Amino acid sequence: MQTQVQNESVENAIEKAKLYGMLKYLPDGQLTHAPFSLSPYSISVADLLEMTELTTYFSELMIRVSQDWAFLDQYLGPISKTDPFLKMLLDLREQEVTQSKQLLVQRNDFFLIKDDFSNGGQGSSSTGAVPSVSALRQVELNTVSASFPFLITQLVRLHQNLFEQNILEQIIPNNPLGPVVDAFAKAVQDYGSTDAVMLMVSQPAESNRFDQLGLEQLLWEKYKIMTVRKTLTEIYENGSLREGHLILAGKKVALTYYRAGYTPDDFRTSEALKGRQLIEASSTIQVPDLPMQLAGMKKIQQVLTHQEMLSAFASEEISKRFLNTFAAMHTLDEIIETPDGALSASEWASRNPEKYVLKPQREGGGNNYFGKDIPIKMADMQPEEKDAYVLMEKIEAETHPAILVVNGNAETLTSVSEIGRYGICFADNGGVESNEDVGYLVRTKAENVDEGGVCAGFACLNSLTKA
Ligand code: ADP
Ligand code: MG
Repeated sequence: MQTQVQNESVENAIEKAKLYGMLKYLPDGQLTHAPFSLSPYSISVADLLEMTELTTYFSELMIRVSQDWAFLDQYLGPISKTDPFLKMLLDLREQEVTQSKQLLVQRNDFFLIKDDFSNGGQGSSSTGAVPSVSALRQVELNTVSASFPFLITQLVRLHQNLFEQNILEQIIPNNPLGPVVDAFAKAVQDYGSTDAVMLMVSQPAESNRFDQLGLEQLLWEKYKIMTVRKTLTEIYENGSLREGHLILAGKKVALTYYRAGYTPDDFRTSEALKGRQLIEASSTIQVPDLPMQLAGMKKIQQVLTHQEMLSAFASEEISKRFLNTFAAMHTLDEIIETPDGALSASEWASRNPEKYVLKPQREGGGNNYFGKDIPIKMADMQPEEKDAYVLMEKIEAETHPAILVVNGNAETLTSVSEIGRYGICFADNGGVESNEDVGYLVRTKAENVDEGGVCAGFACLNSLTKA
């Protein structure tokens, strides 16, 4: 329980959060504040530096992988036999009109592991200038719908304000929203049409609407670029093609930004697929384009944990740094060395489910299997379905006490924090033109909670402080 003084601070923080537009919709349509923490997460300068430096290399990796359709097809094609959603995505290639300009807005998520580095990442045997052990463990890299650039920028304002009132410690500055909006404006200008708009592809009922509104607002205030917000179905119903351009609301769409389209739920109607096909058939710049979306699949992440695969896309030195941050990932039938001898990964994970996370080719939270659900799910699978899943070593993140404020209530809980770095990369025909790290996201949640969604109410927005 909070003391009286702390209670007042919590009330004060909740009001400020609302003032700054840190809002989300509850399932009944009411507005509440987005969950946030009042305990900034402390990180060492070395870990922060390594994470930040890796952003541009990871962006470049995703650009390179996206340019290699044969590679994507080799590993995703077999899964599409049992996964209709993936098949639908792969089939979109037929509609795709070449737009050589690529804009990647990605977020690369990590945990910091407990202080024992003895079972350090995949590259822990490496020697040389690069540290051979690291506390960083990558959870996943999001190439589609890397959300929270607005809400986290507002949270930093809130934390900065509380620091100035001597309630919180000094936090590490962070403003991913500005660079994301600048990148969108540049893409609209690069498209070469004056008076063109950005299309925000959204889900029909979006609880995280304010994160999108904040972005739209800054794009208008700073650049006078209008955003047209539509679901995939509405795009089919209201959109058309004119000389290769996508036209909506009478305007050319220079840029299409996906905050939907990464889950089968977004394609419940056949019109939704036609909406996506219409986008593909136009020359609009897509954030992300289809190959970039596919490059972010968990199957591709798993394949790239193998050094020989990774080395096709990254130098030896950079590969080592990547490998240092990778948790072990396996196909279900992969034979691995275990304390019980050589076993299939699925057999080992069934015996030790608390050590793994079972992941299908999905984004957006709520799709993974944890703990005792893993053997149940695997026993339930047809043999041919197994290709569609990967097993990932469960990352044992460092824990810390944190005040978590969810829907008006504050609680102090033993927590873990997932740190994402935002990266923005422009490329043309695979050639990188600009590439930068633009800030961070921290999501803090109780240690016993598996999933990580902020709008689902599992995790709280947070900021970083120097250890
Ligand atoms: P999604 O695409 O649904 O966001 P993620 O791979 O990011 O899928 O998993 C969702 C959440 O599950 C993460 O935010 C994290 O909290 C938790 N999680 C995922 N993988 C691991 C892992 N290997 N170890 C521990 N927690 C994990
Ligand atoms: Mg995730």
